Amino acid sequence: MDEPSKEQVPLNKREDFTLCLSCGFPNHNSVARCMYCNTNLTKSTGLFSWFRQTFLILKWRWELKKERSKDENPLLLFSKKLGYLILGMGFSGLGCYLFIDSISKNSFSTAIISILLLLYGFFTLKNLFSGK
Ligand SMILES: [Zn+2]
Repeated sequence: MDEPSKEQVPLNKREDFTLCLSCGFPNHNSVARCMYCNTNLTKSTGLFSWFRQTFLILKWRWELKKERSKDENPLLLFSKKLGYLILGMGFSGLGCYLFIDSISKNSFSTAIISILLLLYGFFTLKNLFSGK
């Protein structure tokens, strides 16, 4: 207890911030204009602004989460896609081969398996190309 810190850290840090009612950026209380969109920051009270602030907080959290998921290792993402591509092509190819084989051998069970393989390969490729 020799040197008590000069600045007391408030328990609720959010008290230090004012949310911009235009874009939702949390600005420090000391700034007069929004650091993000340059809108004049006016302290507002009331139920409507409370709802708006809650909505904006959720929106910002969602944006941040989106940014983070976008940061996924591109090399990992690429190899994952390549893996799915090979898997899809492999299943489709094997399905095609088995299907032709089943026709030549008149084998019903092989035809069923080949159709399943074709479908699996098709959906793997479809998900790969339709996915972001
Ligand atoms: Zn703003």
